[in-house]
Amino acid sequence: MFVDKVKIHVKAGDGGNGAVAFLREKYRPFGGPAGGDGGKGGDVIFVGSSRKHTLYDFKFKRHFRAQNGEHGKGKNQHGKDGEDLIIEVPLGTVVKIIEGKDEKVICDIVEEAQRCIVAKGGRGGRGNAHFATSVNQAPKYAEKGEKGQEFWVILELKLIAHIGIVGLPNAGKSTLISKLTKAKPKIADYPFTTLSPVLGVMELDEERRLILADIPGIIEGAHQGKGLGHEFLRHIERTKLLLHLIDISDGRTEDPLLAFEKVRREMELYSLELLKKPCIVVGTKIDSLSHKEYIESLEREFGNRGFKFIAVSALTGENIDKLKELVWKEYVRVKDEIHI
Ligand code: GDP
Ligand code: MG
Repeated sequence: MFVDKVKIHVKAGDGGNGAVAFLREKYRPFGGPAGGDGGKGGDVIFVGSSRKHTLYDFKFKRHFRAQNGEHGKGKNQHGKDGEDLIIEVPLGTVVKIIEGKDEKVICDIVEEAQRCIVAKGGRGGRGNAHFATSVNQAPKYAEKGEKGQEFWVILELKLIAHIGIVGLPNAGKSTLISKLTKAKPKIADYPFTTLSPVLGVMELDEERRLILADIPGIIEGAHQGKGLGHEFLRHIERTKLLLHLIDISDGRTEDPLLAFEKVRREMELYSLELLKKPCIVVGTKIDSLSHKEYIESLEREFGNRGFKFIAVSALTGENIDKLKELVWKEYVRVKDEIHI
């Protein structure tokens, strides 16, 4: 599990001021005080939404303000209330307010449509009509609107990746994730360059985003806790779909089917659950594959074993968009299935 964290500033709307006004009508030249009340300022409200998966949006916009209430007017007209500002956040977001040096948790958003008022709008001030008394029938004062609350807020989200990327060292995992997402993992030519899982957000469009985790270091012996694999295996247990990457280029050092079996065996030794997870097999580095008919034969081989197969090149971008669509389609298909 990984934590995404952002700091933003929220400000609720100020209340509108009450008005000082008097009725002046033809036949009632001293018609009495008639200043209307100011409107209430809008609240800033967080709402849980299952369509959001990350705090990514907040990296670009950090200041949020709800509308102010309008001032009161003459003839006892009240100012309009300011509109609330509704901000959607992913389920699993913990909201903290910064108070001096402390952070105070104010809510834990876990359910769809759950609301949390972070900053309350100010009350509108009362107009002078409220202040007439028998002694002072023409008060010349009204209340000011109250200020809206404002805070620096920390949002924290525990991320669980939707998609796990597995494969032997050098299969091209880091390179592919940097192509599919906005993450920038280290890329190098020898095993174990990736020391911790890298998360990236794959975005097809605004409504379709998935979190990918590059799970490095699945090596022989990983299930015994050797190498880097163990902890990461635990992480992929929680993903919904796996991409199993295999180098199928001319420069490959292993037979693709053997490479596949090797990683599958590791997964099996660790937990049978992993083997049952839906999995797409991705042949990598096809920019340096001279016999393209090889792709078809692998498609058949993996197809016979019940796996979808797609061949891509992260280098040239060949089939990358196709892979994104396939991943989305499969994810949507399997996300609500329970695999026992
Ligand atoms: P990982 O160990 O699975 O994360 O693999 P990397 O992404 O670090 O890639 C291993 C090596 O393969 C690096 O030298 C990459 O530059 C190279 N590589 C990755 N993807 C491609 C590709 O699409 N085409 C080619 N020609 N080389 C690639
Ligand atoms: Mg890597």
